[in-house]
Amino acid sequence: LLSLLVSVLLASFAMRPILRSNKAQKAFVENASHELRTPLAVIQSKLELLFQKPDASILESSDEIGESLAEIRRLRNLATDLLRLTREEQTLEVVRAPFKIYPLFQTLSEDFQMVAVTERKHFAFQFEGDVEADYIGDKEKIQQITVILLENAMKYTSETESIGLKVSLGKELEITVTDTGIGIPKEMREVIFQRFIRLDDSRNLTQGFGLGLSILSQLLEAMGGKVEVRENAPKGSQFVVRI
Ligand code: ADP
Repeated sequence: LLSLLVSVLLASFAMRPILRSNKAQKAFVENASHELRTPLAVIQSKLELLFQKPDASILESSDEIGESLAEIRRLRNLATDLLRLTREEQTLEVVRAPFKIYPLFQTLSEDFQMVAVTERKHFAFQFEGDVEADYIGDKEKIQQITVILLENAMKYTSETESIGLKVSLGKELEITVTDTGIGIPKEMREVIFQRFIRLDDSRNLTQGFGLGLSILSQLLEAMGGKVEVRENAPKGSQFVVRI
């Protein structure tokens, strides 16, 4: 009886991680389906409306067509994020190849400078270290991480506000993305890295899915990096990545 008890106990111990990952998988599928359902319902109702007025011109139906297209764009973004998430889960090998770090960030900052100008925001880039230095690491993953943070900084700032990218290359590579936007309450600074988590304030601003930062966590975990979220003075957020 005792050995039976011990084996049941051991089995339940062994099963725990499997059950946990099953639960996480179930929650993920539920969340993803929920996110898919809303745009699909909108597209369906808009197309049904079009059917009700078969003689209307495209111009007369432009509202329905425009809204359907916007929802299709949302679905495409969601599909891209989901693909990125699962692809990263499967291929977590990290490439270690030498590349010049400065031109990578210089090009990225030129791209975001252009976005900032069109959105009437300020963008600043600062680099500390040797601009000729080679870095050995995964160029693509480092670029993805920076893009996720810069896109968020752009999303959660309004006109005339500022976004900053600072890169320091010393013993470690440190990437700091700063914004003067809506900020993140202290108690939420950990949960935002979970899948499908969006804070209430941001829901009104943009139509993300809450997947960007969980993709970032996966990439960083693979590379053995860390991310820290801080408050930016006088307002906004600061994300510091160390690899
Ligand atoms: P998404 O931006 O698509 O919603 P993310 O996973 O990138 O997904 O971010 C999760 C949530 O964290 C966002 O919905 C937002 O509430 C919050 N967040 C992320 N970056 C910022 C930022 N720079 N400023 C304010 N809030 C942010």
